[in-house]
Amino acid sequence: MKYDRSWTEIDLSNFEFNLNSLKKYFYPQADFMQIVKADAYGHGAYQIARKAIECGAISLGVANVQEGILLRYQGINVPIVILSPSMENEIDLIKQNDIIPSVSTLEFAKKLNEKGNFKIHINVDTGMGRSGFSYENALKNIQKINKLKNIEIEGIFSHFSSAEDNQEYTKLQSDRFEKLLDKIAIHPKFIHISNSSGVITFHNKYANLVRLGLLTFGVYSNKALKSKIEIKPVMTFKSHISQIKKAKQGYPIGYNRTFISPKAIKYAILPIGYADGYDFLLSNNGKVKIRDRICDIIGKISMDLTAIDVTDNPELEIGDEVVLLGDDDDIISVENLTSLYHGLSYEMLAQIGRRAKRYYKENNKIIDSSPILRRDFMPKDFSDSKLGNIIETAIEQRLQSKEIANLVHKDILKRLFVEKDRDIHYRRNFKHSIKFEDSDEFPDYFLTTTNLSFSKKLQNDFFKVVCAKSEADLEKYFLRNDVEYRWLLDNSIDLKEMYFSVTSVMIDNTELYNEMKIANGCIEIKCYHSSLKNLVGKEVDFSISTKTYYPKNSKQLSIYIIDMTKGVNITFESKLKDVEAIPIFSGKNKFPKITNKNNIISISTDKDEWVMPTSGVVFTY
Ligand SMILES: *Cc1c(COP(=O)(O)O)cnc(C)c1O
Repeated sequence: MKYDRSWTEIDLSNFEFNLNSLKKYFYPQADFMQIVKADAYGHGAYQIARKAIECGAISLGVANVQEGILLRYQGINVPIVILSPSMENEIDLIKQNDIIPSVSTLEFAKKLNEKGNFKIHINVDTGMGRSGFSYENALKNIQKINKLKNIEIEGIFSHFSSAEDNQEYTKLQSDRFEKLLDKIAIHPKFIHISNSSGVITFHNKYANLVRLGLLTFGVYSNKALKSKIEIKPVMTFKSHISQIKKAKQGYPIGYNRTFISPKAIKYAILPIGYADGYDFLLSNNGKVKIRDRICDIIGKISMDLTAIDVTDNPELEIGDEVVLLGDDDDIISVENLTSLYHGLSYEMLAQIGRRAKRYYKENNKIIDSSPILRRDFMPKDFSDSKLGNIIETAIEQRLQSKEIANLVHKDILKRLFVEKDRDIHYRRNFKHSIKFEDSDEFPDYFLTTTNLSFSKKLQNDFFKVVCAKSEADLEKYFLRNDVEYRWLLDNSIDLKEMYFSVTSVMIDNTELYNEMKIANGCIEIKCYHSSLKNLVGKEVDFSISTKTYYPKNSKQLSIYIIDMTKGVNITFESKLKDVEAIPIFSGKNKFPKITNKNNIISISTDKDEWVMPTSGVVFTY
C-alpha cells in the first residue's frame, strides 16, 4: 500500500456484520442470494462471493454470462443466476458453465428449450418497467413455458423499483406479484422479489428468497433506513499526497480556471482523478480526510490528478495517506459524497478504484489482495499456444525464415522444458502437511507438527533446516540453496529447541543426523549423512518432520512456496471450526483445488502443474 498510487481496502468482517444485520429481517425461512454483479459493486466478485457463501448465501446473482463464467473459473460452485435478459448467442456458454438464465420472453424460453435442459428463473415486471413479462400477461406465458419439455422453472421473481423510499408503490408491486402467484398452478422452488432495501421495508407472503446487494456493502439506500438497521461500509478508497504547493492570491488551479485562490494558499496534489473512478462532479465540491482532518477539493478533477486545499493543515506532508471514501466517517461516506453532486451510491461504488489494487481485510488483518488489472484473464487468453505463437513470430521476424524459426522455437522449448528441466532446481511432488493439536504444556498454543516431502536433485551431502522469529532474519535464507526448509516462529515464542525441533529427516530411506545451532536470531539445523555423497546430483526424496508451537490467537498461518515446484499438495489439519484457506498461487493456474474433509483442508494442483515461487496459502481460523 505504501507504494500504491491508490488502493481500496475491502473489509470482509464489516461485510459479514452487514449480512448478520440483514438476516434479522429475513422471514422465518428465507434464504438469500448474494448479488455480485459489476464485480460485486466494485468490491471484487470472487472474494465477496466466497465470504457470502461462507455466511450462508445459497446462490449468486450476476448481470451477464461472462460474470458467471469468471466465478466458475475461479472455482465457485453454488448456483449462479443471471438477473438480466441474456442474448441468444450466449446460450451455449450458459449451458457449458452451468449457469441459470432468467427468462423475460417466450421466444428466449423456446430457444433454451431447443438447446437442451435448463433451469430458469422467470422474470415478471410488476411495475419496474424494465425487463420481465408484464404482470398482466405473465400467467399465460408461464403456462406455455411450463409445457416446454427441457425447461424447469426453478424460480419466479420480480424487482422493486422504489423499495428504499416508497412503501405504497412497493406494496402495489408486491400485491401484483402475489395475485399472479395465487393463480399459478406450479410451485417453483424459489419465489423472490426483495432487494436489500426491500428486505427491511417490506414482506411478501410468498417469497422465500431475498436478493442482497447495496446494504451488504454497508451503504444506505436511504437515510431513513439508519434507524432500522446498522451497517458498516465495506470499501475504503485511499491514496497518498504526492506533492505540496503554494499559490498566491488570484492564482488558478486546474483546468479552465474554475478555482482562483481567494488568498495565498497551500495545496496538495493527489495522484488520482476521474479515471480512477473518483467522480468528476466532485470538482470544487468533494472532501477528503488526511490525518483525521477534512480537506476540500479545489478546481476541476483531472483524469489522473486532483488538488486539495491544505492551507489550514500545515503539518501535512508528501506521502501522507489520504482517505477519499469510506472509513466510517460520515463526511466522506459514499452516501454523503454522492449527495454532493446528486449522484448515485451504486454508481460510485461500481466505478471507484478502477486503477486501484484491492486489499481484503478480515479482523483488521490483510488476508488477500487482487491486482490492479481489473479484468481477470482467462487461461484461454494466455494459453501456452498463444504465447508460443508470439515467441515463434518474434523469432521468425528475426531470422526472416518461417522454417528455421519453427525449428529454433522447438529447440528452445525442448531445451527449456525437456532436456534442461533437471538442471533447473525445482521440486516435484511437493507435499506439506501441518497439523494443529491442543497442547497440555502450553494451553495458549497449538502443538504443531509438520511434514514436508518432495523430490529434488541433491546438491550437496548436507542441507539445512532453519527457523527464525523475524521475517527479515528468515529472508536471509531464502536465496540460499543449502536450505531446504524454513519456518517462521511466532514472535511470542523463544528460539529454543523445545519450541522448534526436527523430529525426523530422511533422504530416500536413510534417516539423517541433525545438529542444532542457535545464532543470529535463527535456529539452524544441519542435516547430514555420509551416504549422501554418493547421491549428489541424483534426484532423491526428501522428508522433513518438525515439531513446534503456534499461538492460538494468531488466527492465521501462512505457508509459502519459494522454489519452482511441480505438483503441490498442502494440507492443514485441526479441530478448529471455520478454517478457511486462501491460496495465492502464481503460475498458469491461480486456483488450486481446495477440499475440506474430516478436519483436513487440502490445497492441491495436478501432478504436472507448475507453481511459481512467491506462491502460498494463508489459513485463517
Ligand atoms: C442489483 C439487483 C439487486 C440488488 O439490489 P440492491 O438494491 O443493491 O440490494 C436485486 N435484484 C436484482 C434483479 C438486481 O438487478
